[in-house]
Amino acid sequence: MISIEGLTKSFDQLEVLKGIDLSVEKGQVVVVIGPSGSGKTTLLRCLNILEAPTSGVVSIGGKTLDFSHRVSNREIAEFRRQTGMVFQSYNLFPHKTALENVMEGPLVVKKEDREAVRKKAEAILAKVGLGYKIDYYPFQLSGGQQQRVGIARALAMEPNVMLFDEPTSALDPELVGEVLKVMKDLAKEGMTMVVVTHEMRFAKEVANEVIFMEDGVVVEKGKPEQIFVAPKEERTKQFLRMIQ
Ligand code: ADP
Repeated sequence: MISIEGLTKSFDQLEVLKGIDLSVEKGQVVVVIGPSGSGKTTLLRCLNILEAPTSGVVSIGGKTLDFSHRVSNREIAEFRRQTGMVFQSYNLFPHKTALENVMEGPLVVKKEDREAVRKKAEAILAKVGLGYKIDYYPFQLSGGQQQRVGIARALAMEPNVMLFDEPTSALDPELVGEVLKVMKDLAKEGMTMVVVTHEMRFAKEVANEVIFMEDGVVVEKGKPEQIFVAPKEERTKQFLRMIQ
């Protein structure tokens, strides 16, 4: 479902991603861990081209962008439809209700029929446990509820892949569980997911593969039971000692 080859990304002189290779099978959940500043967010943003890679080839769902050539905005817009992104800071439209937030993408980007979109949005909000809050505005919702709207909004675009960038980092501890539950349910349904998170329990329970990044490279990857119980690389061991 996802394949990345030789992905690099520089901001001016700073090389943040130094040649990442990665492949993710359909229905797999990959959790990316690593210290702050190691390039995890940039990697996710390069997957949906919110940041244009400096070089490399990115394929998702059979569509490929090769950044050794010039890539047009039209190609990027089309490619981006493959993925739904969930941000740490929710990024909801503050002046729109939960329902309107979820309807926005299918209406504006996909130009789908309004009544069909409303039905679909209601169903997705019910699925994330917010069927009773569809007419609430973001400021009337808790952080956990806002983030669940964020997930619903991404799902409404029917992506092949869901990308999560520290989706629970901004939440009070008691609200983390409800968001992780929605993510677990999605994983069980077979959604392909790439998740940047510090929630190691989630990684242990849900990930098919854990990737440890540091300093713009993938230092080690493996099944959670291998990475967490028997990491091979010294840098992985050090990181896990620090956070546990
Ligand atoms: P992580 O998610 O692992 O904390 P990031 O991908 O956010 O790491 O950042 C990796 C490095 O890239 C950091 O040094 C950060 O300062 C730098 N960086 C990220 N985005 C930008 C940007 N838009 N412009 C310049 N530097 C950036």
